[in-house]
Amino acid sequence: MLEESRHYFRNAANVLGLSERVRDILLAPFRVVKVELITESDEGKLMKHSGYRVQHSRVRGPMKGGLRYHPTVDEDEATALANLMTWKTAVVNIPYGGAKGGINCDPNQLSEREVNEITRTFVGQIKEVIGPTIDIPAPDVNTNAKIMGWIMDEYSKYHGFSPGVVTGKPLHLFGSDGREEATGRGVTIILEEVLKSQGKTMKDVTVAFQGFGNVGSYAARLMADQGAKIVAVGDHAGGVSNDEGLDVEKLAAWTAQHRTVAGFPGGDAFNSSDVLTWNADVLVPAALGDVLTKDNAADVRASIIVEAANAPTTPEADEIFRQRGIMVVPDILANAGGVTVSYFEWAQNIQQFRWDLDRIRNELSAHMRKAYASVADVAKKRDVDLRTAAFVLAIQRVGEAALSRRPYAEAADLPT
Ligand code: NAD
Repeated sequence: MLEESRHYFRNAANVLGLSERVRDILLAPFRVVKVELITESDEGKLMKHSGYRVQHSRVRGPMKGGLRYHPTVDEDEATALANLMTWKTAVVNIPYGGAKGGINCDPNQLSEREVNEITRTFVGQIKEVIGPTIDIPAPDVNTNAKIMGWIMDEYSKYHGFSPGVVTGKPLHLFGSDGREEATGRGVTIILEEVLKSQGKTMKDVTVAFQGFGNVGSYAARLMADQGAKIVAVGDHAGGVSNDEGLDVEKLAAWTAQHRTVAGFPGGDAFNSSDVLTWNADVLVPAALGDVLTKDNAADVRASIIVEAANAPTTPEADEIFRQRGIMVVPDILANAGGVTVSYFEWAQNIQQFRWDLDRIRNELSAHMRKAYASVADVAKKRDVDLRTAAFVLAIQRVGEAALSRRPYAEAADLPT
């Protein structure tokens, strides 16, 4: 994953003509933290887990990014994802840098008390390097609002009342209205803009989704509200299709109860992995990374791919899509709605003033539409695809901020 994230950066660096030295500087993480967490299991045995926080860049503001609890968490994964966060926050122009981290553990094997203790131990060991003006974690794979509440509580023991240390908190504990739907809503807004640029609306398209969790289910509902036909949805356990359009509200209710779309009576069952090559105008990967590869890229039938998941497309597949004229809307633009509303949550925490849902939706819409317009503008001016354009825009914004902070002659090599 680290190599892939650097590949897209390099494409943009080539467009900008950056030297190797400046590339190295822009890619190097600011700080890499690894901690060993010793806790006690419910059986009274000692447990050891490794925790990571990679802080990539603080040039444009405090660092921001998720915390995931998963057996694959390691320094490389956190570094790749921290890097992407720097470019993502720059694309939507919110005042943050990038970070990512997590704990190498399998939460399915842990009780809630054990997860709580591991989380609090982690906070105790990184409390000097996170904070509302330093680095603000958020939920990611296998972490949620409840865990964010524990982090706020533990951090506040050391630093006093600090709701702004994490985002994605429960609504009753200084969380924000609209955070849960934010990523799916952002994905929908970006698709609306893409279609508008082609003289179309949601009513003109059929859409297939891989993943019907937080992001996929909100995006599907919002797209269907505007008239898109959601013709296929696949998840970890199966798929369901309907050429006339699935009833997305009923599918969401079914999934809430059964934890999968499989078995939904309002459509036909299919093998989940077929969703990626479904006969639909738009494909929204909203589940895992690295699902669109050189092995299936030639068979993809959609003409627009909106990357709701992080890093769903390998560089080889990306190249095939480019050659085939398939438009790929990159993750650092398409799924940035989540971090954007996290920014609004943080702003509310700092102001101690709650915004209402209308204000959040309006601000999100404005941020996403502006980001799309800026990326599309770079793509047009430089004659590059949207992903390269998004990276070019982000690198320029980070470079410009770096240059303004460090008036060294050498910094003049940074891109502006
Ligand atoms: P989630 O856990 O709520 O949902 C994940 C979905 O993926 C589920 O429908 C699950 O069944 C499906 N899935 C899991 N394994 C699968 C498999 N092998 N094949 C097909 N489907 C599979 O997660 P989410 O919050 O909706 O996140 C989805 C993606 O979006 C992830 O890549 C995440 O990093 C990214 N993302 C999420 C947010 C956010 O705010 N939640 C923000 C930015 C990016």
